[in-house]
Amino acid sequence: MSETDSCNDWKWQIANRISTREQLEEVIELTAEERAAFEGDVPLSFAVTPHYAGLLQSDALRRTVIPTNHENALGTGELADPLGEEGHRATPHLIHTYPDKVLFLVTTFCSTYCRYCTRSRIVGKGPADFHALEESFLYIEKHSEIRDVLLSGGDPLTLTDSVLDDILSRLRSIPHVRMIRIGSKVPVVLPMRITDELCSVFRKHRVWLSLHFIHADELSPETQGACQKLSNHGIGMVSQTVLLKGVNDDTEALIDLFYGLLEINVKPYYLLQCDPVRGSAHFRTPVAKGIELIQSLHGRISGLAVPQYVIDAPGGGGKVPILGVEQIRREGDDIVFTNYEGIEYRYPDPEEK
Ligand SMILES: *Cc1c(COP(=O)(O)O)cnc(C)c1O
Ligand code: SF4
Repeated sequence: MSETDSCNDWKWQIANRISTREQLEEVIELTAEERAAFEGDVPLSFAVTPHYAGLLQSDALRRTVIPTNHENALGTGELADPLGEEGHRATPHLIHTYPDKVLFLVTTFCSTYCRYCTRSRIVGKGPADFHALEESFLYIEKHSEIRDVLLSGGDPLTLTDSVLDDILSRLRSIPHVRMIRIGSKVPVVLPMRITDELCSVFRKHRVWLSLHFIHADELSPETQGACQKLSNHGIGMVSQTVLLKGVNDDTEALIDLFYGLLEINVKPYYLLQCDPVRGSAHFRTPVAKGIELIQSLHGRISGLAVPQYVIDAPGGGGKVPILGVEQIRREGDDIVFTNYEGIEYRYPDPEEK
């Protein structure tokens, strides 16, 4: 294979991931602060695909994948497991928080690790591929109230076509499962993974994709091509965007991203308030800022380009759409709000000093 052929091969991209400071310094000049972060223990997993590393001239993207010492700090209200997923673990690989849907964690591996990842306590740690999914299939079979299965991880699209085909076939054999989604950042960080063969697997099992985009700078020609290919195969796609300070917390950046997504047939679905995960304080915007941003979009741009702004209720109350300030109240450093069951949850939201 020539060099250009191998760059277009997803397995080459994974095998040649950048996972040390030395490798990173071969492609980008680090600031003193970034270099210092590699001195001690890097608490969160670090890796970037060569493809995504090629986009890091964007300051916004660079902040989301290169470690800094901020991630060693424990901010107000932060937790290793902010969404209380461990308390809702039904099997080693299933999180059953809501009545009719389950999160199925089929791998802990990602090709590129985001510094603000909600699941940073597990991603890139432990075995790359989970085995013994049988217990989880049996659980879903036994629970006929489950209609929606969301494959996540880690990134499920780092599994091979045949493993994915096996998992999806098994899920499709369960009559009460009506919806299968896969959560993935692969079209962004590893777009060459989106082959015609993979698209055929999705089409065969009528899968929806829930993609993870944070900035218009991620819309490289390769990523646009990957989404166009998925769309040509008839695959439904939505996008989730985490609101991140200094990355995408301004109206123009969000408009650019959301229109860019519509152009490649991806519907902006959620704008997520950043979860209070350990070491993420430098990424979190005040809730008031999220409300102001989403209200600045409503009416101003295509309604299809506007996602729903949600807080994932800390402790496991599910995602709650936040529409305005009258829906929330402040108690000291917390925002208090009510989820779909009418239960009160608290999101740590210290007043800016
Ligand atoms: C986000 C999430 C889902 C899916 O929620 P939707 O609002 O339907 O997209 C399911 N289970 C868990 C645990 C989740 O965090
Ligand atoms: S792609 Fe998703 S699971 Fe993987 S590190 Fe980023 S946020 Fe976490």
